[in-house]
Amino acid sequence: MEKSYKTVWANCLEIIKDNLGDDRDKLFKTWFAPIRPVQLENFTLTIQVPSAFYYEWIEEHYIDLVRKAIRMELGPKGMLKYSIVMDQVGPTTTTVPTGGSKAVNNPPKEIPMNISDASHTDMPNPFIFPGLGKVKVPSQLNENYTLDNFVEGDCNRLARSAGYAVAKNPGTTSFNPLLIYGGVGLGKTHLANAIGIKTKENHPDMVVLYITSENFLQQYMNAGRNGTTNDFIHFYQMVDMLIVDDIQFWANKVPKTQEAFFHIFNHLHQNNKQIIITSDKAPSELAGLEPRLLSRLKWGLSADLQAPDVETRMAILKKKLENEGIEMPHEVVEYIAYNINTNVRELEGALISLIAQSSLNKKQITIELAKQMVDKFVKNTSREITIDFIQKVVCDYFNLPVDSIQSHTRKREIVQARQLTMYFAKKLTKSSLAIIGLQCGNKDHATVLHACKTVANLAETDKQFQCWVEDIDKKLQV
Ligand code: ADP
Ligand code: MG
Repeated sequence: MEKSYKTVWANCLEIIKDNLGDDRDKLFKTWFAPIRPVQLENFTLTIQVPSAFYYEWIEEHYIDLVRKAIRMELGPKGMLKYSIVMDQVGPTTTTVPTGGSKAVNNPPKEIPMNISDASHTDMPNPFIFPGLGKVKVPSQLNENYTLDNFVEGDCNRLARSAGYAVAKNPGTTSFNPLLIYGGVGLGKTHLANAIGIKTKENHPDMVVLYITSENFLQQYMNAGRNGTTNDFIHFYQMVDMLIVDDIQFWANKVPKTQEAFFHIFNHLHQNNKQIIITSDKAPSELAGLEPRLLSRLKWGLSADLQAPDVETRMAILKKKLENEGIEMPHEVVEYIAYNINTNVRELEGALISLIAQSSLNKKQITIELAKQMVDKFVKNTSREITIDFIQKVVCDYFNLPVDSIQSHTRKREIVQARQLTMYFAKKLTKSSLAIIGLQCGNKDHATVLHACKTVANLAETDKQFQCWVEDIDKKLQV
């Protein structure tokens, strides 16, 4: 008579438990107790695991043991099948920590596994369960952004060497948190990744995690929807180094996300875990972040990245060429370095376009070609500013629909957005007051004039408003 699936699995569990080694009780409770046997058919036992993460974890760590147990119970033909209660899975959920509790709402998905073939299926990872120490977490670091590739110059010396120190002794220097700030394309993301990579080199056992503030927010919202907010917070609280990129993204948004981060921050900080934050503004200008979070950000070191001087620009170009294995006449490199002085991203962009041009058209890289290309490149990037564009930027900035400027509403936020649009249109385009008025909700020229004065006044007297004006100005001029 065939044994029941329950008996088979119960016997397997005995064998497994006996062989788990130290920490047996904890491991058993974490990994095996939540598994349910489902059926036994033709020597194939199906077990239900609470999530894809369980399945992966068991495959990676315990498959030999499980295989042994199954064979002892079912003989050489014994096989194992997993039925997974799916975690919510979506394209953006690579690191969403979800607990098992909520997952039962989703339809179970079957992943047949032949235990004699331990090949891997692509399942999203990682997930974490409350109370479970450390698990392997993919750091999500960009491997190309190393410290070696990050050229040192006056513009970044402090930030770079602070990063170096932090990677050596994460969490225990006074640079905690380390806040790296600076304008677009000046290397914040690169440096933050580089510190993470170096830390892992220095301390292979540490859990380093990189996340953009935008993804963090997204995950937080998903967790809220799935009732797994606590798991989410626990997950982040167990890392040794947390890198959050572009924190300014949270400004004036999502107080709850900021609060969750605040708790994570406190926990990590208290436990001497390293926090690295990047931002496109200095902490003093980061209006719209929760004050208590903002004050935490100032606890450690704030180091800025400046635009590189011409020597550093040359060095960056040379490094890039060296990495790509491409030769280029010195005078051409010099030409680019002298003519593109906005930020490193544009510098790289110009270099790449030049290389592409020359290889596509099979032309030699000469200073002539560089000139043509830089002309084109610089012209392309400094596009003409139109009233439409200004409307879009302003509305984006305040999260308003673009057409709200055209509406007749007297809602304060829209009136303000309209006035700012008028102000910038006057400042940055050649359009007349009448045309500007026409395009901003069919107002007359006097209204536009009034708006310009109001904005100028507020920018002088109201700090928050001044921040807005500066921010939008920057966004318009890049
Ligand atoms: P940010 O995050 O500040 O907008 P990034 O880190 O994305 O800027 O940098 C833009 C590009 O410039 C990246 O390709 C990066 O590798 C490069 N870069 C920036 N600073 C340096 C540097 N000091 N040395 C080498 N490359 C740099
Ligand atoms: Mg960046």
